[in-house]
Amino acid sequence: MTTSARRALQETQFESTVVEALPADPQSENVPRQVSGAAYTVVAPTAVVAPSLLAWSEDLAERLGLERPPSKGAAVDILAGNGLAPGMCPYAARYGGYQFGNWAGQLGDGRAITLGELIALDGSRQELQLKGAGPTPYSRFADGRAVLRSSLREFLCSEAMHHLGVPTTRALALVSTGEQVVRDMFYDGHPKPEPGAIVCRVAPTFIRFGNFEIHAASKEHVVLRRLVDHVICAHYSNFDIKDPATPAAWFTEICRRTAVMIAHWMRVGFVHGVMNTDNMSIVGLTLDYGPYGWLEGYDPNWTPNTTDAAGRRYCYGKQPQIGLWNLARLAGALMPIIEDCAVLQRGLELYRNTYRVTWQGMLAGKIGLDSIEREGDTALVDELFSLMAAVETDMPIFFRALGEHIVDREYRLIEQVVEPALYDASRFPADLRARWQAWFLRWQKRGEASGLDTSERQRHMNANNPCYLPRNYLAQLAIDAAAEGNVEPLAELLSVLRRPYERQLNRDAYASRRPEWARHRAGCSALSCSS
Ligand code: AMP
Ligand code: MG
Repeated sequence: MTTSARRALQETQFESTVVEALPADPQSENVPRQVSGAAYTVVAPTAVVAPSLLAWSEDLAERLGLERPPSKGAAVDILAGNGLAPGMCPYAARYGGYQFGNWAGQLGDGRAITLGELIALDGSRQELQLKGAGPTPYSRFADGRAVLRSSLREFLCSEAMHHLGVPTTRALALVSTGEQVVRDMFYDGHPKPEPGAIVCRVAPTFIRFGNFEIHAASKEHVVLRRLVDHVICAHYSNFDIKDPATPAAWFTEICRRTAVMIAHWMRVGFVHGVMNTDNMSIVGLTLDYGPYGWLEGYDPNWTPNTTDAAGRRYCYGKQPQIGLWNLARLAGALMPIIEDCAVLQRGLELYRNTYRVTWQGMLAGKIGLDSIEREGDTALVDELFSLMAAVETDMPIFFRALGEHIVDREYRLIEQVVEPALYDASRFPADLRARWQAWFLRWQKRGEASGLDTSERQRHMNANNPCYLPRNYLAQLAIDAAAEGNVEPLAELLSVLRRPYERQLNRDAYASRRPEWARHRAGCSALSCSS
């Protein structure tokens, strides 16, 4: 690619197929309200006082064909909601959703505003959306803004997930607004001002399950049909829109993509934290990074979301099942279009099978086996997870080290693989040590029978087990520095996370266990919902 293909954001031509294809809200006043019969409301971002660029995703920009802008100026004005590029027609989407298992009615883009679509250098159409760009008719009781810590976390994590090979929306830029946003971080009645920031997100579409649900719940079947047709034509163009079987095949494909996405989450230990149906992408991308977290000590019941601490609906181990529950809600919303329940059931069945097969393949990769379908494999895997859960064992460190020490004997494996992953090495009883040794011996034997040579096994393991993850405490260190005006730690972290499967020289600090000081510090382990 030549640099001459790069253009300035403010000179890039934008389009909006959504605005053209779907019905707009006939009213235009920007006050919180219920909207009916429309898929979106045209609404401009609210300008901010002093926008300044904090972070930029160079490799996404390269794909989009955009030049890196200076820290202030016309491009950053657009990224902050203070200006528009040619052809942009900003809007907030209308959607609903099931939140924590209950129908919540109209939600919508309360602080996100889509600017428009550009054609990337690879020919794909990509939407640019600002999050934290000011109030919209969907803001309900909130201010439409976002704080630096939450915007930085979204920016960092979406880019990290992309490089981990997990389907995700992306982030182009992080901009500080020069304004303060008041937040009650602990929901304890002590609100305080914090620096505000806006993230510019990028994806082929930000349409969610909830966009369909709101039309179904409001009995707006004509709009629902138009939305289905639009999504199929724009984002599933291999389907023939004229074929009556297409909507069913399309639903099945959504099920397949969602299963693959969630299998990846489980592989890398990502916990979304708020798998409400309004946060589920219709194209199978990880969407809406809020109180997400990374499984450190292996515990299937762990949730990073303090709002979810009591019910643990969105904990690590339940994610696959919640994916299915959410797809069943989408199926319900699509019933006016796809009347045959059996067809919808088959989609859900495909979700189950795809998830099982994909996860098993990944797990086999994680432990360097050809498959985990032979006799005894289930017991081998069950014992592994039971050992990891017995005392707090860092899952990513364990798996990565297992591949790197594949040729070691079992006593060395204890030293090199298990001990470095333990949060409290003093809690490693002799009986557990013996069980680990026995497990390593079984695993080695099974590995020898796999038909793969050691280097091939190691390659599979290293490709499935990342070395570097944007653990919450690492993100928090970058946030602390950025709040003091130093964005170097964020840039450095981002650069490490661009090659998560490669051990990098002098970067061990990024691959180590969460330090004890971070265990109970706000933001470093658990977080609350929207901020
Ligand atoms: P989330 O939990 O971030 O997925 O958000 C759920 C709903 O609340 C969505 O409709 C958001 O647009 C809305 N929301 C969250 N934070 C804000 C905010 N600060 N201002 C306006 N709307 C918000
Ligand atoms: Mg959301």
